[in-house]
Amino acid sequence: MRNIKDSLQGLIKNDANFRERYENIRKEIISHPKVEAFFIEHREELSKDMVERSLMKLYEFIGQSTNCGECESLEACKNILKGYEPHLVIKDKMIDIQYNKCAKKELYDERRKLQGLIQSLYIPKDVLQATMKDFALDDGGRIQALNLAEQFLAEYEEGKQQKGLYLYGKFGVGKTYILGAIANELARRRVATMIVYVPEFFRELKASIQNNTMEGKLEAVKKAPVLMLDDVGAESMSSWVRDEILSPILQYRMQEKLPTFFTSNFNFEELTHHFTYSQRGEAEQMKANRIMERIKYLTVPVEVEGKNRRS
Ligand code: ADP
Ligand code: MG
Repeated sequence: MRNIKDSLQGLIKNDANFRERYENIRKEIISHPKVEAFFIEHREELSKDMVERSLMKLYEFIGQSTNCGECESLEACKNILKGYEPHLVIKDKMIDIQYNKCAKKELYDERRKLQGLIQSLYIPKDVLQATMKDFALDDGGRIQALNLAEQFLAEYEEGKQQKGLYLYGKFGVGKTYILGAIANELARRRVATMIVYVPEFFRELKASIQNNTMEGKLEAVKKAPVLMLDDVGAESMSSWVRDEILSPILQYRMQEKLPTFFTSNFNFEELTHHFTYSQRGEAEQMKANRIMERIKYLTVPVEVEGKNRRS
């Protein structure tokens, strides 16, 4: 019985057409500029035989994109392994393909990693994409906020006592957006931030009392390296929220020197009023004053002005 190799060769011999096609493809492969460049670079290690045995690998190689040359985006990558570029290498006396991350994939992974540093609860996506640059290019009304944010970023060091900002002003002027820009800049520097939309967070905490998950959630917020409490004063205030939740969070952050930011529609005076009257209508001035002292200790107040960007 003839072996397979012989019969294949017979087939090739008999089929002039096939041989011609094979020869054409072979020429196309070995004269491909990227393959030629590889041959030149490795001429000392390569033999004719090695090249012949590796034709399939070379064919696989030239069918793919390198240097992201042909891909508009990572999604559009046409390579066998999305986001990985083939590189020719010599391995065990054969030419082989090694796949390395492409530039677009590197960037994508880096972004993912940074996003992992910003934890957010109920914060809209557009805000999480804010950058200091967008915010800086902006009109007046926020110059002081911008200066203070930049000063914070310039001085930030883990474990150092540093005041956060209390950004207050009307609805839609971009307070939450500023938090997002600061958080993104911190993420770039590998500092983890937690941004929390306060009214929703308190609702969730209340709901989680029953299934015993409240403590864990509270702990995560308490201990975040940088905490941003968005829209304080918009929550429905109860003495429970004030005395059992917010107060201990702030107390802990003061002790541990952990920077804390707030946004609010209220200035300090209005927020004091908010914390004084619980839903039941009883005035608790002392307790309101205590929590306000903590907020004032943790922050520098700055008014954000401007037009309502939501309308
Ligand atoms: P606030 O928290 O003061 O109510 P937001 O931060 O939510 O306001 O901003 C309102 C809207 O304006 C959002 O959709 C936000 O993405 C947009 N916005 C705010 N500041 C900027 C900016 N500098 N560049 C682009 N969009 C902005
Ligand atoms: Mg807001």
